[in-house]
Amino acid sequence: GDAVLSVRDLRVWYGTDRGAAKAVNGVSFDIHPGETLGLVGESGCGKTTLGRGLLGLLPRGAYVDGDVTFKGSRMPALGSKEHAALRGRELGMIFQEPMTRLDPLMRISGHFSEALKAHHPDMSDADIKHASLEVLRALGIPPTRFRSYPHEFSGGMRQRLTIALALVLRPAFIVADEPTTALDVLVEAQIIRILAEIRREFDTSLLLITHNLGIVAEACDRVAVMYAGRIVEIGNARAVFRDPQHPYTQELLRSTISLQTTGLNFIPGAPPDLIDPPAGCLFHPRCPHAMAVCGTQSPVPLDVPPNQRVECWLHGPDDAIPEGGRARLE
Ligand code: SF4
Repeated sequence: GDAVLSVRDLRVWYGTDRGAAKAVNGVSFDIHPGETLGLVGESGCGKTTLGRGLLGLLPRGAYVDGDVTFKGSRMPALGSKEHAALRGRELGMIFQEPMTRLDPLMRISGHFSEALKAHHPDMSDADIKHASLEVLRALGIPPTRFRSYPHEFSGGMRQRLTIALALVLRPAFIVADEPTTALDVLVEAQIIRILAEIRREFDTSLLLITHNLGIVAEACDRVAVMYAGRIVEIGNARAVFRDPQHPYTQELLRSTISLQTTGLNFIPGAPPDLIDPPAGCLFHPRCPHAMAVCGTQSPVPLDVPPNQRVECWLHGPDDAIPEGGRARLE
């Protein structure tokens, strides 16, 4: 069906003393109704900026450009007043540290009431309670806890609460940024199961930002791999994991597997300087397959089997590669 969210050529730059840091630099993708898209990449690749940008939660002075279509209409300028009105009602967010989002002096009932009344000022207390308990139940939180305080919950339960709070307004789209990072492994597994169920129960589309590829394999339909402000590979999650087509995705998967077996986790070299990025393919200084063309020209996005869209010269197009361009880059 039609996409809930279409992002075209989105750019988010930050001003610094040395010049613009291009945190997100020309990103395009769609999310469909009820779909979970995983967004992965090393820290500093722009994935958090992308998520926050879509919710209009960027620091003041950030330069934003690009087209975002939401439910068939052009989304108001990211960060504008109109966009802020959409947030909460139609766009939700699940954060990493639930405790920082919950007021310790406010009962759970108060949190729900505040969230609902912000967008439905005339809602009755009975309706607020009804709507809240419905979501709490769906997330496995007993209705008897409605009058409890946040500190009376365990870390995992608190994260469920913040998910419930994000869902109570029935947003069409939610950004979850590292939602399980602060949790232990068992609780993490529960939260992942819940996130995977959200789309069935609430028909919500989810952008799940994580550095944990295991979570993506379990909870995501598709995955987008970000490197230095670009999506270098996007596609069906199974296809990407089974048969990654971009050298960076291949290295990322390899480093994850070696983390599990040897405890060592790194891709040789460092991510590029976003203020003064290398010419050509941004990954070329670290790429084991770099060719002459990679050092001078940016690769163009191409559809590649089995089910991916990839930015890498290895896949062509041949007619855009100059003579001798496929020679190994020294
Ligand atoms: Fe490596 Fe070249 Fe592909 Fe970039 S374009 S990932 S340098 S092969």
